[in-house]
Amino acid sequence: MHVLVLNAGSATLKFQVVRTDRARIADNTDEKLARGQMERIGGESVITLRGPDGALTRRTAPLRDMHAAVEWLVSWVTSAESGTGLTSRAELHAVGHRVVHGGERFSESVRVTPDVTRAIEDMIELAPLHNPHNLAGIHAAQRALGEGVPQVAVFDTAFHQTLAEHVYLYAIPYPLYRRHRVRRYGFHGTSHRSVAYRWRQLSGKAKADVRVITLHLGNGCSACAIVGGESVDTSMGFTPLEGLVMGTRSGDIDAAVLDYIAGKEGLSLPQVEALLNSQSGLLGVSGLTNDMRDLLAEAREHDDRRAKLAIDMFCYRARKYIGAYLAAMGGADAILFAGGIGENAPEIRARICDGLQWVGLTIDHAANDALQDGREGRCSTANSTLEAWVVPTDEELLIARDTCRAVDGT
Ligand code: ADP
Repeated sequence: MHVLVLNAGSATLKFQVVRTDRARIADNTDEKLARGQMERIGGESVITLRGPDGALTRRTAPLRDMHAAVEWLVSWVTSAESGTGLTSRAELHAVGHRVVHGGERFSESVRVTPDVTRAIEDMIELAPLHNPHNLAGIHAAQRALGEGVPQVAVFDTAFHQTLAEHVYLYAIPYPLYRRHRVRRYGFHGTSHRSVAYRWRQLSGKAKADVRVITLHLGNGCSACAIVGGESVDTSMGFTPLEGLVMGTRSGDIDAAVLDYIAGKEGLSLPQVEALLNSQSGLLGVSGLTNDMRDLLAEAREHDDRRAKLAIDMFCYRARKYIGAYLAAMGGADAILFAGGIGENAPEIRARICDGLQWVGLTIDHAANDALQDGREGRCSTANSTLEAWVVPTDEELLIARDTCRAVDGT
């Protein structure tokens, strides 16, 4: 089966074309035929494309909206130039969509029906920056490929629907949960699931026996405690603002600070919330950048005090969550690093794990330094009883597989 995977944002569209089926899922032999992204949709769009050989092509095209973008994409994917070998739209058998918010209704990936579309619309007030664009991607794919081609929604929140009530509730008046659905939902679920699944394959451990802590450290960062393949706690909450220090988000903060900052700085509450989302985290503390690569360079080359402080805060918060989840789960088998920082920054991994020797985790620095650029493997010493691994996330592959399963009905 050829699955088109779409991740539609406000002016961006990321995509992959994956050849998969039940046998390939079992053998881990799915094939990626093409991938890329389209940016600045709504104007002169910049398109980055990679065919099966990984060779990069850059294009520009005037794409006025998501419909035009998906139409362009489907034409390219089925052209000889793409190298995918697909020659007609009929060879795209299904479409898998990343959808950010599935609320309490969706605990797994589902075929898109009019009822599902309405439910995703209902969730717009919980994810105003994401769900409308995800829906636009669904409508555009339906129009480009026809109503007969199955579409599947894969939700970022679904994996965390296994959280227990005492974990997902905030300790605020209960009617606020009943009336307004205020609770912790968690995000990055597809990534945490993908990483935990891949590690089980690598370690050969049975699903039921496994306790892991996954750390997705990218621009957005979150931690997840996973027992027997189910999420039991995660650091993001009602929105992706809660939890770890991130590129531009503060993570955990005393809610009373919002009104205080608003009063002192003459800002509205939405403005303060925007400040916590887009001007805080690594960027806010360092005053320099949200890019961990540049912060590490500033700290190393110029001994920049605030770059070092931002890195210290980032690593300390992550270690604190590891401690909390070890307590919540009564121990763990492994800590799994993923995301741009988790996969490429050995120094950050080492610093997060530094001081965890007492729970049996010691970093093997040579192994750790060698794990970059998409390589997977163990970065703890052979005799560590709590292991640490780098397991690159592959959300698109998981979306393609979920789509295949939902369409097959297996
Ligand atoms: P997103 O969450 O947007 O998908 P990524 O997972 O690509 O983002 O992660 C982006 C982050 O990864 C940035 O902070 C970037 O600096 C960091 N990163 C990428 N490569 C490296 C590297 N070699 N060393 C340190 N940080 C890196």
